[in-house]
Amino acid sequence: MNALSIQNLRKTYQNGFEALKGIDLEVKQGDFFALLGANGAGKSTAIGIISSLVNASSGSVKIFGYDVKLQRNLAKSCLGLVPQEINFNQFDTAKSIVLNQAGYYGIPRHIALQRMETCLKQVDLWDKRDTISRRLSGGMKRRVMIARAMVHAPKLLILDEPTAGVDIEIRRAMWQMMQEVNAQGTTIILTTHYLEEAESLCRNIAIIDSGKIIEHSDMASLLSRLHVDYFILDLAQPLMTMPTLTGFSLKSLGEKVLEVGVPKERSLNDLFKQLSAANIQVISMKNKSNRLEQLFIDLIDSKNTRGNT
Ligand code: ADP
Repeated sequence: MNALSIQNLRKTYQNGFEALKGIDLEVKQGDFFALLGANGAGKSTAIGIISSLVNASSGSVKIFGYDVKLQRNLAKSCLGLVPQEINFNQFDTAKSIVLNQAGYYGIPRHIALQRMETCLKQVDLWDKRDTISRRLSGGMKRRVMIARAMVHAPKLLILDEPTAGVDIEIRRAMWQMMQEVNAQGTTIILTTHYLEEAESLCRNIAIIDSGKIIEHSDMASLLSRLHVDYFILDLAQPLMTMPTLTGFSLKSLGEKVLEVGVPKERSLNDLFKQLSAANIQVISMKNKSNRLEQLFIDLIDSKNTRGNT
């Protein structure tokens, strides 16, 4: 069963701008899915249509088989949306924000109280339930929005930039929480600017660019298409001059830090042989973490190059 199924979705805004030019997308039940794209690519428009906030010009969107236009309430009952902007009343407590949402879905009070407790515990905010939300940190406010989106136990959760602007420690705690929610059976669609986040959390991915899907595949096979692996080397001595290594690209990231591009067909033995010959001693080596970022740049670049020829 598909959690989300989009066919030939188009959106032309009133000013004639074509924000979506016929997109197809499938997200399987249970998936942790990344929807990526640069600013202005069309992600918010697509999410707006999925969550019935924006009307499509044509095409269809189904959530767990329910058409968002023809079976709006059934479709909405399967969906929880965590928007980018904090959009609750900042003078309400976390508890009342979540309870009000339960009321909106017509959940009886005694069940709503249980759900509120479960959701606030899930996002680790139970201790803060009676705090006026204005007094919560940025990361906590985002978690309130996640708890609110989960109160009606949606089968599909869309998180639009959930970790934007929160510091790395809180971001990692939120990753763990999202993974737990996913492991308990909720399908998650995530948009993010942190490609490292998508790479470590998501199993499948779609990349949207200028209103079109330019990539739709699983993360592992997408990453395996990287032709060059990048490594960061810590050196024993500062580099006086940049060496020339045959078949490898080099970039200095600091006096004693070197980034090396290793094409798939080259071996690391060859790299180290050449480094030794150039009298460069390496203390440690790690993979560059944002491989997806590299791929993302390559994909957009190659598409633009093709488009310009
Ligand atoms: P993203 O979320 O990927 O940044 P959006 O879906 O917000 O992209 O926007 C896609 C394109 O549609 C952008 O060029 C944006 O300027 C345009 N757009 C968005 N909303 C409107 C609107 N209400 N009227 C006209 N153009 C819009």
